[in-house]
Amino acid sequence: MDFYLNDEQLTLQQMCRNIGIKEIRPVAAKHDRDHTFPKETVDKLAELGLMGIYVPSEYGGAGMDFLSYILAVEEISRYCASTGVIISAHTSLAIDPIYRFGTKMQKEKYLPSLALGKNIGCIGLTEPNAGTDVSGIITTANLDKSKNEWIINGQKSFITNGNEAEVCVLFARTDPHPHRGLTAFIVHKQESPFVVGKCEEKMGICASSTTSLIFEDCRVPAENVLGEPGLGFKIAMETLNGGRIGIAAQALGIAQAALDDSIQYSKTRKQFDKTLSSFQAIQWQVADMATRIEAARLLLYRAASLKDQGENYIKESAMAKLYASETATFCAHKAIQIHGGYGYIKEFAVERYYRDARITEIYEGTSEAQRMVIAKSFLN
Ligand SMILES: Cc1cc2nc3c(=O)[nH]c(=O)nc-3n(C[C@H](O)[C@H](O)[C@H](O)COP(=O)(O)OP(=O)(O)OC[C@H]3O[C@@H](n4cnc5c(N)ncnc54)[C@H](O)[C@@H]3O)c2cc1C
Repeated sequence: MDFYLNDEQLTLQQMCRNIGIKEIRPVAAKHDRDHTFPKETVDKLAELGLMGIYVPSEYGGAGMDFLSYILAVEEISRYCASTGVIISAHTSLAIDPIYRFGTKMQKEKYLPSLALGKNIGCIGLTEPNAGTDVSGIITTANLDKSKNEWIINGQKSFITNGNEAEVCVLFARTDPHPHRGLTAFIVHKQESPFVVGKCEEKMGICASSTTSLIFEDCRVPAENVLGEPGLGFKIAMETLNGGRIGIAAQALGIAQAALDDSIQYSKTRKQFDKTLSSFQAIQWQVADMATRIEAARLLLYRAASLKDQGENYIKESAMAKLYASETATFCAHKAIQIHGGYGYIKEFAVERYYRDARITEIYEGTSEAQRMVIAKSFLN
């Protein structure tokens, strides 16, 4: 078994670490506090080819493997988890389904601008009454045969990148059947205008936008159906299987940041004339954090490698997301404890890690949903 990253992957990881330290970390707290989209960071990442890392170069991407993308999301999330989810939602949830299920024409038309970061992408799956249960989607798409266009009506909620996205991979009902009645569409805002609704005020990942999207007689050309009518449920599930690996990477980055800060702080803070790091109670917390992080990393890289090899990765992706997200919460919790009262105030980044970690257990399938997927793989 090979546990080593290749030279290309190590170079990318180091590049992301350098940008993270020099350019992302210094502005992360401000964007979090002001709830502002880190445009300058995203532009920089686009310049470096990081908005379409595993998209083939013929479609404007960097042409690297999926594991490289995961390394980048992990490393960037270590310095700003909001930036991590911006890239992850854009790549895993918008680019990926177009790349995997799109026609040649759709790929040529939409992928280059997304992969080059000229357009930001999002996924429109969740609705006010359809979260974990995707089959509850009530947004409708009706075919206007005279114009060969679908007319979409409905509302999507909690959409990451909703404020900035020009391209939305949207799921709507074209038939009453709960699963076979769902269809996926590529909706380009310029061609098929939709409205950005309420921008949510959140507990964490505050520099990423989370909005509702409103579709009122939104006309989408028939050629923008992804896959074919009725394939939406399958496309959604397969997209989330890959997306979960991206969120696991985001979670791992947060966990690593919590450990990094805890080590640094415990080596400098003194009580009873000794550094905190000399107390066994602190050492054990650091040991537990580091061990969980390493275990999460192995699950994560394995899931990503399986995807790269074209193997089935459904169970592994759910395990990686479940474990990495719970590790992020665990480590951020411990980091605050190690920082004592300072961990509870906003001057120290561990306070942000704690808020950012929590969402990783919820979106792209809650921890309960991951456990359902894992159990199903053994019990069905
Ligand atoms: C910040 C943020 C960003 C998001 N980004 C996006 C996005 O970009 N695109 C998008 O489409 N959606 C997005 N979402 C939505 C997110 O994916 C959903 O919130 C999530 O899937 C859970 O759905 P829900 O909130 O409706 O909770 P519900 O489905 O109502 O679940 C509530 C609770 O019940 C549990 N539960 C539900 N069903 C079962 C069951 N069968 N067995 C056991 N427990 C169950 C859940 O695990 C959870 O604990 C985002 C959400 C947030 C908060």
